Amino acid sequence: MITKRFHTVSAPKPHDFIFAFEHQQIYLLHEKKIPQWHEVSHLFQSEQHFYCFAESNEACYLISEKNNIADSVDYIKTHLRTTGSLLEKNNFLLACRANHLDHWRKTHHYCGVCGHENKNKADEQALICSQCNHVSYPRISPCMIVLITHGKKILLARSPHFPINVYSTLAGFVEPGESLEETVHREIFEEVGLRVSNLKYVRSQPWPFPDSLMVGFTAEYLSGEIHIDEKEIEDAQWFDMDSLPTLPPLMSIGRELIDTYVAQFK
Ligand SMILES: [Zn+2]
Repeated sequence: MITKRFHTVSAPKPHDFIFAFEHQQIYLLHEKKIPQWHEVSHLFQSEQHFYCFAESNEACYLISEKNNIADSVDYIKTHLRTTGSLLEKNNFLLACRANHLDHWRKTHHYCGVCGHENKNKADEQALICSQCNHVSYPRISPCMIVLITHGKKILLARSPHFPINVYSTLAGFVEPGESLEETVHREIFEEVGLRVSNLKYVRSQPWPFPDSLMVGFTAEYLSGEIHIDEKEIEDAQWFDMDSLPTLPPLMSIGRELIDTYVAQFK
């Protein structure tokens, strides 16, 4: 259970989690676990700064300034996406949150208004400019993801960036001034040329690659023939649920939308 309360703690306790990243690669102990303070404290000088970003049973610290873990032979570096099957779910969610904040902090060293250095804001999860006091909050990019259904058929598409043979649901970022529902209709029409109706919100999922919040819907096919936007996707097809292609990994909300819909017919 992750609590959302922002707090600051002066020094880590022995069982607090210590997160270190290089972009979206996370450092784990060889036994595939997130290091705790008592396991890494020997790598750090006592005056080195750690940033506390969250708490569960243990507090969580982000190594944002200097990464001594990278020089140690006791750690492996692995892409955060692959840790969904290695870590307990709650720890994976903590790692996702840490990576989201790590990316935000590393891209907001300086104030966007006056260019002076940002520093931690003491009373909330934010950075404040040392010169003009402009406050920067963590960036979160809402992105709708939708499963289009037509009875026992579902529409799946593949992006050129997907692993070979994998098909998934459609997704797209919300634009300024748009409601989530408008995004769903626009993206579907842009990407595959179809009209849909009866949108249903299913659930959402933080997706820190680098800073998305996925908002999951189902929508029923209404009209149109598949006409793909070749800049975005390379193929889209109606699949009978008895003969589905290779699907995205279980931890993804796209996969959950598919599995949940298909399960209704079993
Ligand atoms: Zn400023």
